[in-house]
Parts: sequence; structure tokens; C-alpha cells
Amino acid sequence: MYGLGARGLDPACVARIFAAKGRPAENPLILHIRDFNDALPLWRIDSAEAEAAVARAEILAKAFWPGPLTIICYKSDLVPDITTANLNKVAVRAPDHAVARQLIQLVGEPLAAPSANASGRVSPTTAAHVLESLNNKIDAVVDGGTCAFGLESTVVDVTKDHPVILRPGALSEARLAELFPDIHIREAGAASVAREASPGLLAKHYAPSIARVELIETGEIVNIWSGGAALLLRHSTAKDLLSQNPARRGRTEILSDDPVAFARELYAALYRLERTAPSILYIENPPAGAQWRAVADRVARASAKTD
Ligand code: AMP
Ligand code: MG
Repeated sequence: MYGLGARGLDPACVARIFAAKGRPAENPLILHIRDFNDALPLWRIDSAEAEAAVARAEILAKAFWPGPLTIICYKSDLVPDITTANLNKVAVRAPDHAVARQLIQLVGEPLAAPSANASGRVSPTTAAHVLESLNNKIDAVVDGGTCAFGLESTVVDVTKDHPVILRPGALSEARLAELFPDIHIREAGAASVAREASPGLLAKHYAPSIARVELIETGEIVNIWSGGAALLLRHSTAKDLLSQNPARRGRTEILSDDPVAFARELYAALYRLERTAPSILYIENPPAGAQWRAVADRVARASAKTD
């Protein structure tokens, strides 16, 4: 994932991120640091409750940092309110990409860095994607090549007795459950997901600029097959249908039956489909189960009807 970085403890710098992305002020940013020691000054440790939260954070950080895990704890006064959208908790992560780590080292302070795309749109997995939505709004793009994992980090709030996954992502819930078997998962779109919990979870998000995006069950694809709609399918589904009608290949993106490979390619496929300017895109509903949860979350939001 390509990020749009700025000094995360300087309110004026952070404000420029919100401006460039057109990001709503109520959507908090993640601070990127090198390691657990860098995170400590960002988190408040002034009560037994806050201390217990940081102890849980340490267990997760030691296991999974650097890596695609974002940890939420109570924020210290070092972190400006604009960075956390006025929440009393801050999200922190140590990326493992060499370029990101060098950048943090050079800047010498935490980098606030959301995905480098206009707010609500598909997240970029190549430098070219970044320029598609942010050209002229940013100073430069550091081209680190194509991303290894194509989805955002997994976001975990550790302020409760059992950690809660607020956003499923690149780190699987099975890996987290090895350390915290009682970890909770907040389902996207659940009525209980309040704004304070994780703003990105409620909104239409990760959406291509296509007028209509619909999820479709595997068995129903045959019914819309002969129309002009764009399609995003899994390989096993597509191969039968395509053998009957190879001409359909034009506006059809075919991704892997493996959830990790599917996730890596998802956003790039959405960018390609966007360019064919279809009036409607059908995305094959992912299979049920934990392995597909992060993908299911993103395609549900890409096809959400409300902002
Ligand atoms: P993005 O960087 O665009 O992937 O978005 C970061 C996401 O992290 C937000 O949409 C929230 O879901 C989550 N997040 C960041 N900070 C917090 C926080 N303090 N509390 C809860 N969720 C947060
Ligand atoms: Mg984003």
C-alpha cells in the first residue's frame, strides 16, 4: 500500500494530509514508527487501565512488528487532536517496508500516513495509482515498486480486556488469536460500530469511481454474463464461463482462488476496471470464512450505497 506521509506530531503538517485527500476531519490517521520503543511516548501510561492496554500492545508489537498490524491505545499529549480526529486513542504501526522505515528514520519523528488516494477511493498499490488521484496535490512519490500485500493493515484496539479487531487486514485473525484466543471481531457495517470505534468501517470506502458496484453470488453470474457489465471474478468461476464465451474477456478481471493472492491484486484490478468506464461493475461475493474476511470487508464497502 502506498501512503501519503507527513510529520504526525505537527498539526499544520497533518492538516495538509486531510486537505490533499479531501479526507473528512473525523477519520483518524495512523502514526508510523520504527519499533515498540518509538510507540511508547505516543501512548498514555498514567493509570492501571492504560498500563494494561500498553502491556497488551507490547505482546502484539513484539510478535508482529514490523508488519501490517496497527495497534490502538490511549494517546499521550504528544499526539495532536487533529491526528486522532479528537479521539482519546491513537493508532500506531511499524511498517516493514525498507523505504518506509528509512523515511521514518530520516524524518526522525512519527509519520502520519493514510493511503495515498483521494478519500474514499481505491487504495494505491503502485506509484502510478498514486498519481491518478493525487497528482498536483502532493510534493513527490517515492516509488518502492508493487506492494507485497495489497490490503491495508489489520487494526486492533487493545484498550479492552480482550483486544478487538476494528478493521480486518493484512495480518490474519488466526495469527492474532494465537496470542489472544478471546480476540473479538467487529463486523463491518454492524449497527454497534460507532463512529468512535473505527470511522473507516462505516463509510462507503475503497470504492472505484464506477456509477454502480454490486456484489453478486457465484450462481447468479450466468444471468448477467451476456450483458455489458464489468466483472470481477475468481478464477474457478471464470474458467467455465469463459470457455463458453471467450469474447467476454474484455471487461472481466479474474483473480486467484487463494485469498492472499486475491487481496494482493484486488485494488490494481479495480483501477483497471475503472479505466474501462463501465456503468456497472459486478464483484463476485467472496467465500465465507476467516481467510476471506479482509477481502469481504473491502468489497462490501466498495459496493456500499451510502457514504
Ligand atoms: P487509512 O489510513 O486510510 O487506512 O485509515 C486509517 C483507519 O485506521 C481509519 O479509517 C480507522 O478505521 C482506523 N483508525 C485510525 N486511528 C484510529 C483511532 N484512534 N481509533 C480507531 N480507529 C482508528
Ligand atoms: Mg485509505
